[in-house]
Amino acid sequence: MQAIQVHNFGGPEVMQLEEVPDLVPAANQLKIEVKAVGVNPVDTYIRAGVYPLKPELPYTPGKDAAGVVTEVGSAVKHRKVGDRIYVCGCPSGSYAQQLICDEDQAFSLPDNVDFSSGAALGVPYSTAYYALNFRAHALPGETVLIHGASGSVGIAAIQIAKAKGLRVIGTAGTQQGLELIKSQGVIAALNHRTENYLDALEELTCGQGVNVILEMLANVNLDTDLKLLAKFGRIVVIGNRGRIEIDPRDTMGKNASIHGMSLFNADAKAMNQIHAAIKAGLIDGRYKQIIHSELPLADAAKAHDLVMQEGVYGKIVLIP
Ligand code: NAP
Repeated sequence: MQAIQVHNFGGPEVMQLEEVPDLVPAANQLKIEVKAVGVNPVDTYIRAGVYPLKPELPYTPGKDAAGVVTEVGSAVKHRKVGDRIYVCGCPSGSYAQQLICDEDQAFSLPDNVDFSSGAALGVPYSTAYYALNFRAHALPGETVLIHGASGSVGIAAIQIAKAKGLRVIGTAGTQQGLELIKSQGVIAALNHRTENYLDALEELTCGQGVNVILEMLANVNLDTDLKLLAKFGRIVVIGNRGRIEIDPRDTMGKNASIHGMSLFNADAKAMNQIHAAIKAGLIDGRYKQIIHSELPLADAAKAHDLVMQEGVYGKIVLIP
């Protein structure tokens, strides 16, 4: 079968499509014929060798994909050959014609969701759901600021927060991004590339501040975020690309909290709950994925360039 292989950490060009041996699932694993692969920013950090967890070389990148089960290990209980599934994490890597995942990394793909949309679910929707519900413990009626709402995690977060009955304010950095988040139903769309864009929050929250902030670029925004919170407000740091100085006093008067998160800390029980909720939202049409483009697997390097570009909206999908 064909798979992208990385022999050395480096730029996008280190990813090459190669012929590799067919995969064989262990007892608790599934083998999947991959129909679509979801490309995430974390794939680029790992490929560049700057992510704290480094795979052994050579490796196949990728955490997200959708496809069809072609083989099940002897201890697999709830899946069978022919099932349509999407995966969130897989030990073999998803940039390939086949992948191997543990049974608890695979989730049913409802019939009304195509494979490319399925490939857009794993990391973005799990992250958004985990941040909002497991880290911020957001409640219906609260106001959430999604600081970076136009990306894959942000769009998922808008849909999940709205379905839960939160008031959702989002930010984006281009006119196209602002239109996109407005189309998702935010009550206000603010441009994080303009000065004083957060001034509008005073009126939008009747001077109370926001209850929850989902932060996609903490190294730029965390200090300001602390000043935007209501009493007992919570910030969830989802994305960060550097250092920042904050004044801890800003947390004190409001009993404010800053919650870090890594999706990799969500255990199997949490993931089951998250994906049961996602399944319900997919079936009734509340959660709709936005696809930027579908590229052949051989164009993985181009996909990595695109996913890190500003103003590229929607999921970039590779088709094996
Ligand atoms: P993405 O699709 O590339 O989206 C990036 C988002 O950040 C866009 O909405 C972008 O808006 C926004 N942004 C750019 N400049 C900003 C600023 N100054 N302030 C606020 N937002 C800004 O990436 P993604 O897949 O949604 O992931 C978002 C981040 O979360 C990435 O850094 C990713 O690595 C991280 N992440 C973390 C976890 C975890 O477990 N902690 C899991 C998944 C993702 P414009 O392009 O419109 O400017």
